[in-house]
Amino acid sequence: MSRPRIVIVGAGFAGYRTARTLSRLTRNKADITLLNPTDYFLYLPLLPQVAAGLLEPRRVSISLTGTLPNVRLVLGEADGIDLDAHTVHYTDPESDGGTLEYDRLVLAVGSVNKLLPIPGVAENAHGFRGMPEALYLRDHVTRQMELAAASHDPKSCAARCTFVVVGAGYTGTEVAAHGQLYTDSLVRKQPLREGMRPRWMLIDIASRVLPELDERLSRTADRVLRERGVDVRTETSVKEATPTGVRLSDGEFVDTRTLVWCVGVRPDPFVERIGRPLERGRLLVDPYLQVPGHPDVFACGDAAAVPDLENPGQYTAMTAQHAWRQGKVAAHNVLASLGKGERRAYRHRDMGFTVDLGGAKAAANPLGIPLSGPLADAVTRGYHLAAMPGNRVRVAADWLLDAVLPRQAVQLGLVRSWSVPLDTASPELARVPGAQEPSGRERDRDREAPGKPGQEVSPPPDGPGPVRVSEQQSETEKNS
Ligand SMILES: Cc1cc2nc3c(=O)[nH]c(=O)nc-3n(C[C@H](O)[C@H](O)[C@H](O)COP(=O)(O)OP(=O)(O)OC[C@H]3O[C@@H](n4cnc5c(N)ncnc54)[C@H](O)[C@@H]3O)c2cc1C
Repeated sequence: MSRPRIVIVGAGFAGYRTARTLSRLTRNKADITLLNPTDYFLYLPLLPQVAAGLLEPRRVSISLTGTLPNVRLVLGEADGIDLDAHTVHYTDPESDGGTLEYDRLVLAVGSVNKLLPIPGVAENAHGFRGMPEALYLRDHVTRQMELAAASHDPKSCAARCTFVVVGAGYTGTEVAAHGQLYTDSLVRKQPLREGMRPRWMLIDIASRVLPELDERLSRTADRVLRERGVDVRTETSVKEATPTGVRLSDGEFVDTRTLVWCVGVRPDPFVERIGRPLERGRLLVDPYLQVPGHPDVFACGDAAAVPDLENPGQYTAMTAQHAWRQGKVAAHNVLASLGKGERRAYRHRDMGFTVDLGGAKAAANPLGIPLSGPLADAVTRGYHLAAMPGNRVRVAADWLLDAVLPRQAVQLGLVRSWSVPLDTASPELARVPGAQEPSGRERDRDREAPGKPGQEVSPPPDGPGPVRVSEQQSETEKNS
């Protein structure tokens, strides 16, 4: 094959790394095509900082064309794959269809918000899996605080400045930790009636926060959250969500306009459409990241069930760390399948974890050494700067500005509640009036949420509905 055609679907941690490694190794001797709905790689671990107004959204959005030489970007979402014909069908952002032919295919479509059969959650909740949701949350929280400050009704004021986060994995913990700091900073500029203070609640069914991480990290995070005033409720779950509040498993009804549902993700339902064996919704691959029976198809990241060779019988967790490292292995194995180099099995070593708690606080255990306070914060920030494939100076500049200037209390209101439904197969895209999800992904969504067809979306009146996020699938799975 003189000039192999390699198609990568998805430009997240796994797909981006695959493309970058292939770009470096092939030196323009292969046609590398990257299919992704956005023109950027989203550095998800810093998304809570975007929601809290600490980082501007473009800081965590790394340009694909600007950082991936010799890689052709095709904007669109895959909605069909023909494994026999070696083609991928996609729909572009203007609803036109296209087809890509491949000699080698890498599937790296990641994960989406997980739905739970809890009454009212799908209707009233929003996820925290993409940029639109983070922007919505930032604006919504800011707006609630402004409305609360202007309100003459103490009950309404209290409800507006009560923010409920469900799921105390690292996403929920970071959202609550940053959220409390952000709303406290808003109150300093515009005080609430009778000295009222914004109240963030963090709820989890588990007996401790960060239930899947080292217990020492849990203790640090728990202490920081409580000292900051976050109302941490463990061994508690949500029984019902309504537009005006949340009923907890202990019977308490919490008046709130904001519920952030951070308890889980599930593999992108697109992989179901490939018709190959799945493991809990993830596309089953062998340790070489190849789809059994299809030596020209590879998969990695959250969407792939990769055997965990360090823990036989298990599959690697859904974490950025795994996805990033698997992307590199996938690139090498694609080349090995084309006769360049040796293929290698995916193996990993636990490098530890970092949880950013804001305000120069963090919990981290690099190489198993537990850290807290400013040292952990320095390690966490240093880790993110080193891990980001671009925009480092811009991120550092935002951090510096945040250290010396008050945070901007401005809500642009561009992302409305109806445009970021919890129940979507495309959390990376905000819905626009009159638009439909691409047909393939829409069907997936319909199958999972009977009675909620993928109808044409018309914007409902955008009341101050709760901000709600979805269940983090096994933060167990997410931690390496
Ligand atoms: C808020 C948050 C914080 C997190 N923090 C951490 C952390 O600190 N440490 C950690 O290890 N993990 C963290 N994670 C988990 C981590 O981000 C994921 O495990 C990781 O992103 C998975 O990488 P991926 O490449 O499989 O998927 P993703 O990074 O989600 O990328 C998937 C890509 O595929 C694209 N795509 C989806 N469907 C299609 C389609 N049909 N056609 C074309 N393209 C498609 C998407 O737009 C996206 O660009 C966090 C997750 C969240 C949500």
